[in-house]
Amino acid sequence: MHVEVRDLNKHFGSFHAVKNVSFEIEKGHLIGLLGPSGGGKTSILRMLAGLETPDYGEIRFHGKVVNDIPPQERGIGFVFQSYALFKHMTVFDNIAFGLKVKKAPKAKIKDRVMELVELTGLSGFEHRYPHQLSGGQRQRVAFARALAPEPQLLLLDEPFAAIDAKIRQELRSWLRELIERVGITSIFVTHDQDEAIEVADEIMIISQGQVEQKGTPWDIYKEPRTPFVASFIGESTVVDKASELKGFESAAKHDVRALIRPEYIEIGSETDFPVLSATETGIVRHLHFRGSEWLVEVEVKGNKLITYRSLEKETLHPGQEVRVLVHRAYLFNDENSWIEENG
Ligand code: ATP
Repeated sequence: MHVEVRDLNKHFGSFHAVKNVSFEIEKGHLIGLLGPSGGGKTSILRMLAGLETPDYGEIRFHGKVVNDIPPQERGIGFVFQSYALFKHMTVFDNIAFGLKVKKAPKAKIKDRVMELVELTGLSGFEHRYPHQLSGGQRQRVAFARALAPEPQLLLLDEPFAAIDAKIRQELRSWLRELIERVGITSIFVTHDQDEAIEVADEIMIISQGQVEQKGTPWDIYKEPRTPFVASFIGESTVVDKASELKGFESAAKHDVRALIRPEYIEIGSETDFPVLSATETGIVRHLHFRGSEWLVEVEVKGNKLITYRSLEKETLHPGQEVRVLVHRAYLFNDENSWIEENG
């Protein structure tokens, strides 16, 4: 289903929770709503579902305004953070629930439930009750239940938030495959950047009720429009006065800030760099072990720049003086942004 939202606004009392939000979603795409707690993600989802009424603005499904259409007639499936399964019902009955409400014929219900049991990898679990399942399995039942009545839009509100890190990781790729197989338009709310990057075709960064930026994870990573966006996708450091960095003096005439990604930075000893004048002196502040590599925090002129080091190269220690080469920086002010190379 093609989804279009125009100028969506919502107040709770005097609090303006959603401000002029507009976006479009192509049929079959999965969009991630990413942002800090309280930003308005759930409120946007609830308005799409019809569980909340917008103060102003339009929601269109397939080009048709649905503002006045009740939730049960919008063709939407919902999966929440908490499993919200019916505890006294088996997996089969949980999945069948929406079809029974619609008074579908018994044989049709059975076929559809078995199809979903298979699709969600729950074969053999049909007669279990929710308390006899793991967290990951329960959440798969929740997906099956939401998909059973063949919705045209799937709304997912932090569906994996209550699940262990390892299973969560598996569920992400599982969900990606499921959505591709079913081909359903979906919106996925999360505050976990890795989850959004891995699962979504496009991400919308939502903060203080507004869309800060919308794009593919790669586009947002490459060209974040604001420091806030940069801090939400990938690691980075923002340096307020770009022109104070060696090699970026020409930025002075624009009065711009620099955003520096870990892969833009190299650290080493004096002998590691042929053009020493292009480097800064820095002090190693922290080393964080990240499993396959070290995250190194190095202080340059009061800024804590972040970079990575592979395991075998690890010879650094906190307090050590090093030379730091910033190869490139993403420069931006309120109007413009561009990439600049050192020198
Ligand atoms: P989270 O990740 O914590 O769920 P969110 O981005 O989904 O956050 P919302 O749940 O949409 O944010 O909430 C946005 C703001 O609106 C919050 O400040 C919240 O307290 C407020 N809010 C949401 N629902 C209501 C309500 N029914 N009554 C009053 N305030 C509300």
